[in-house]
Amino acid sequence: MLTSKLAHWFARRKHGNAADARLQTDALPVDPQAASVPERSFSIPVLCYHSWAMSGNAYEGNDHVALESDLKTLGRRGYQILPIPTLVALLRGEIDARPFTGSKLVSLSCDDARDFDYYPTVNDTMDPVPGFHEILERSRQWCDQTCAGPRAVSFVIASPEARRILDHTCGRGRDEWRDSWWLECAEKGTLGIANHGWDHVHDTLPAVRQRENKKGSFFEIDTFGDAEGQIVDAQRYIDGCTGSRSLPLFGYPYGHVPAYLRDEYFPNEAARIGIRAAFGTGGASVRPDTCIWDIPRFVCGWHWKGADGFEDLLDAIERGER
Ligand SMILES: [Zn+2]
Repeated sequence: MLTSKLAHWFARRKHGNAADARLQTDALPVDPQAASVPERSFSIPVLCYHSWAMSGNAYEGNDHVALESDLKTLGRRGYQILPIPTLVALLRGEIDARPFTGSKLVSLSCDDARDFDYYPTVNDTMDPVPGFHEILERSRQWCDQTCAGPRAVSFVIASPEARRILDHTCGRGRDEWRDSWWLECAEKGTLGIANHGWDHVHDTLPAVRQRENKKGSFFEIDTFGDAEGQIVDAQRYIDGCTGSRSLPLFGYPYGHVPAYLRDEYFPNEAARIGIRAAFGTGGASVRPDTCIWDIPRFVCGWHWKGADGFEDLLDAIERGER
């Protein structure tokens, strides 16, 4: 269901797949008669899930159950999904914010990209676990989206070597952290593929791309050289795997946002390296004054727990408190 304002505007836009969505930066001509409407008024939560969270078959501990439940809740409460590339264009001032004013909007993402973002599996209690991709596809019947574009974005770890090791140190050691699905997934356009760094500077890896091999904190990525290794090399690899269909977005590993990246590296290098926005886990809604290099997200299991906790979070967001 679209409001007439939104429907009118989006009807004028060319629909396309996830790759096209990032190119949709055509501005809506501003109507001089509508000067009294606040131009940039919006408050949009961005949610984050992890497909490796799949213990049992209850909401808490299983982000697949949570994602499905939350999409039904969002639809029932009148939310529409705003594709993240459109959220970024909105925040960058490239499109008019007025059509979004007064609508309940939400954006979706997931981090780390174990295979269960895309493929179904069976968890350790032998419960079937649908991939996030399938849930997002099915959710079209529960929750509309405002315009063409990916319903969610998957932030992937680039390094194949890191993923091979992490599959043993954090996973089940069954080769379930592959990049072989990225191209197909990006082409389908429901779940976009984006950059979550070269190796997550993960503390279970023997060596990480940080000048002193400091692990477990992305705050240590605070020089030009380390930024190039973690961000640019990752983007190049992910672009190669997706036929350049990856989205020009970065998700900070651990949600750690180093001041150097936010205030210097991204503002100065963004055009060269082809990144348009970066996402942390700040636990707040996106508003017109949100920094494009530190877009906050709410993380399932951290910022809210359980279906009731999700309703409470939405209540707080709607009261303007989060
Ligand atoms: Zn992560």
